Amino acid sequence: MEEVLCPSAPPEPGGILVGIVQEDGRVGFVSTPLRVDEDFVREVEAEGEVARRYRFATPCVEGRCNHWRGGRCRVSDAAAASAEVAEPDGSLPHCGIRSSCRWFRQSGEDACRTCALVITEVD
Ligand code: SF4
Repeated sequence: MEEVLCPSAPPEPGGILVGIVQEDGRVGFVSTPLRVDEDFVREVEAEGEVARRYRFATPCVEGRCNHWRGGRCRVSDAAAASAEVAEPDGSLPHCGIRSSCRWFRQSGEDACRTCALVITEVD
């Protein structure tokens, strides 16, 4: 079965590095998906504040996620509904996971326009 990815997930071995948070607080996207291993995850966790420095993607777990309601990802809906856009001209980031991304599948380009401003929540 085809893997659909959550683009704002905690880091875990086998996950994909989506982007790196830049000094201005925006995510700089990695155009070629980079699968991370145990060593990488251990290193970034040791440096701390992982969620404020990186964005990772892992398989969407749908109903096993707190953000899933009525067959939809609420984070994707919120991103798409936001009036804030990362680029004034509305252009989309060069994102390496678009073909598999849950948010893009659900909300299309509206999610992508805001995506660079999303910092992963940590419980
Ligand atoms: S919402 Fe768009 S920019 Fe963000 S991770 Fe998904 S495909 Fe990439």
